[in-house]
Amino acid sequence: MKNNLRILLEDVKNGHRLSDEEASDLFMKRNRDIWEIAGAADEVREDRVGDAVTYVRNQNINVTNLCVNACGFCGFSKKPGDEGIYFHDKTEIQKKAALAKERKVTEICTVSGLHPDFDAKSYCDIYRWICESAPGVHLHASNPMEVAYAARKSGMNTKEVLTLMKEAGLGSMCGTAAEILVDAVRKKICPQKVSTEEWVRIIREAHALGIPTTATIMYGHCETDEDRVHHLAILREIQDETRGFTEFVPLSFIHMNTPLFRAGKARAGATGREDLLMVAVARLFLDNFKNIQVSWVKEGIKMAQLSLVAGANDLGGTMFEESISKGAGAINTDYLDPSEMQRIAEDIGRTLKRRTTLYEPV
Ligand code: SF4
Repeated sequence: MKNNLRILLEDVKNGHRLSDEEASDLFMKRNRDIWEIAGAADEVREDRVGDAVTYVRNQNINVTNLCVNACGFCGFSKKPGDEGIYFHDKTEIQKKAALAKERKVTEICTVSGLHPDFDAKSYCDIYRWICESAPGVHLHASNPMEVAYAARKSGMNTKEVLTLMKEAGLGSMCGTAAEILVDAVRKKICPQKVSTEEWVRIIREAHALGIPTTATIMYGHCETDEDRVHHLAILREIQDETRGFTEFVPLSFIHMNTPLFRAGKARAGATGREDLLMVAVARLFLDNFKNIQVSWVKEGIKMAQLSLVAGANDLGGTMFEESISKGAGAINTDYLDPSEMQRIAEDIGRTLKRRTTLYEPV
C-alpha cells in the first residue's frame, strides 16, 4: 500500500500545487524519505526542462567591499579603518571588464558593498564603464538593496533608479538581498536591509520594466522550515503575476567567518539533508519556475552534483573571481572549468550545455 508521502508526491507530479503546510512537512522529512522527495523532484525537473545541465560563462567584478550595512551573515564587508579594504576605480573596472570579454564570457556580474559615497549615478557610471569595455556582454547586476540605497542617496524613487540603471546597460538584476523574506528573521540577520515588502515591491517594479531577475534564498542560519516555505510562497506568488524570475538559486549559509555564527546566533550552516531538500522541495513547490540552480560555490562540487538528481538543472556560472563566499570562509570558489562541469554532468548520465543569462543556448 502506498504511504501518504508517495501519494502526495504522485499528486504533485500530476499537477497538484503544494500547500504551505505540505511543503513544511516535506522539509521535515528524514531517513529514506529524502530520496523519495529527491526522486520525485528529479522527475518533475525532467518533465519541465529536460535532461541538459546548463551553465553560463560569467565573471564577477567586485567593485568595493566597503559597506554601510553590517549584515550578521556577511564575512565580506569592511568598515572604514578595517584592514583589506578595496575600491576599484573606472580604470580597474574597465580592465576587468575587458579581460572578461577576452575570456569570452557572456555575462558580467557586479558585486559590491554599499559604499558610503555611492548614489544612483555611481551605479549607472559603473554599468556604463563595463558596457563600454565589454560590448555585447550581458550585465547582471544590482539587487533590491542597492536599488533602495541608490534611491535614498539620490532623492529618487526606486522605479526611477531602475529605469536609469536599465538605460545604463543593466540587462538583468540579481535577486539577492532576499535572504529570508520574513521580517522577524531579517531583524536578526540583516536589520539594515530592505524589508520584505520593499524587496517584493522592487522586484515587481523591475519585472514590470522588463528587467528579469533571479530569485534566491539564504538558508541554514536561524530560520525555521515554516520561514523557508513562507519565502518560497512569496516567490511563487510574484512569479504567477510577472513571470519575471529566470531561476531560483538556493544559497546555503557559509557560517565560518560571520558575526552571526561567532555570536552564537546561527547554526553552523545547513546539513547535507537540508541542502538536498531545499533543492527538491523548491522544485516541487515552485511549479511556475523552469530553472533551479545549484550553487557549487556554496555547496561544493560533490553536493552540487547530487543536487542535479534532486531537482536542479543548472550549475550557475564558471565565475572567475568570487569573494562573497570566500570572505565568509568557503574554499575553492574562484573558478569552475566547464570541463569539470562536464565531468559532473556526464557522471550522472546528463549532457552539459552552455547557456546565456536568460537561458538561451550558446
Ligand atoms: S551582505 Fe551586502 S549589504 Fe550586507 S553587509 Fe554584506 S555587503 Fe553589506
